[in-house]
Amino acid sequence: MDRERDFAAALLRWYDAAHRDLPWRHTRDAYRVWVSEIMLQQTRAETVVPYYERFLARYPTLEALAQADEGELLKLWEGLGYYSRARNLQRAAQRAAQECGGTLPRTVEALRSLPGVGAYTAGAIAAIAYGLPVAAVDGNVERVLCRYDAVTESVGDPGTRRAVEARAQALVPRDRPGDFANAMMELGATVCTPKNPACLLCPVREGCRGFERGVAQELPVKPRKKPQRVERRAVMLVFCERRVLTVRREERLLGGLYAFPSALHEGETGDPAALVYALEAMGVRAAYDEPLGRARHVFTHIVWEMDVHALAAETCTPVEGGLWATREALAALAMPTAVRYAREQAALRL
Ligand code: SF4
Repeated sequence: MDRERDFAAALLRWYDAAHRDLPWRHTRDAYRVWVSEIMLQQTRAETVVPYYERFLARYPTLEALAQADEGELLKLWEGLGYYSRARNLQRAAQRAAQECGGTLPRTVEALRSLPGVGAYTAGAIAAIAYGLPVAAVDGNVERVLCRYDAVTESVGDPGTRRAVEARAQALVPRDRPGDFANAMMELGATVCTPKNPACLLCPVREGCRGFERGVAQELPVKPRKKPQRVERRAVMLVFCERRVLTVRREERLLGGLYAFPSALHEGETGDPAALVYALEAMGVRAAYDEPLGRARHVFTHIVWEMDVHALAAETCTPVEGGLWATREALAALAMPTAVRYAREQAALRL
């Protein structure tokens, strides 16, 4: 039996018969494929669909994205998370507009030189949009292949990763690389899922060594995860003349989005005097009002446990990078999902 050829043929037959009808599967336009692939990183297809449609209605071309207002762009991205993806999309669009005449580059190497485009995304664009016979290996594809070949070495090991990539490359059929890339993603997302793979429905079960040996569920072997760091934060809702203070945050997690002033704290809740002092350091004189409850947000490597507090400022003193937002302005700002609870509490008081 030719395991490579049988794998590709069975997978494509299955994909042709019943794949999910997703909007980015109706196009080979490199810009649209690129936007979809960036949005799909860390995010489920069902969640991405409305974002993808809104995004392309607003920025139908690479030129339009290159010229987009950053605040509006981040607002459109609000709720998808990992906002650096949106900023990198725009930086890459600007670069492509300047250097490649308004289109995306046509080789994997040149695609990879764009901000936010790694090996997987470059491979997916090259295969789907340009029909180049290259593999696109993400976590889904890695899982399928480790199970199919019963790879028991850790995928954290660079040697294993290289071997899986070479294996993926060897499987790509030269006549349908784009459909193959989509079919691999589809198999990983709907059948060969991280938990409880539906092996009995799988088109490549016949050649699957992980299934044959009864070890599919345990694969791939992953490196041990570092425990998530927990940060306790006091979030300050500072009110003044029916406005609330928001501040543009530049750190990596929230870069470019607006949030409320906040401070790390060690104890059970934020100490009111420390909050007043922290605001004074920003040039805002305020009195402590009351606690407004707790919220929690899990990022990839860090957890924020947030105590939300209300304070009243004497005057709406201008703050560097800050905006005293009315209820309407607050609704229009791009803010991270992490502060959703605080934002709701602020809106209730405006
Ligand atoms: Fe994954 Fe099971 Fe299919 Fe093997 S048979 S590729 S483990 S779903």
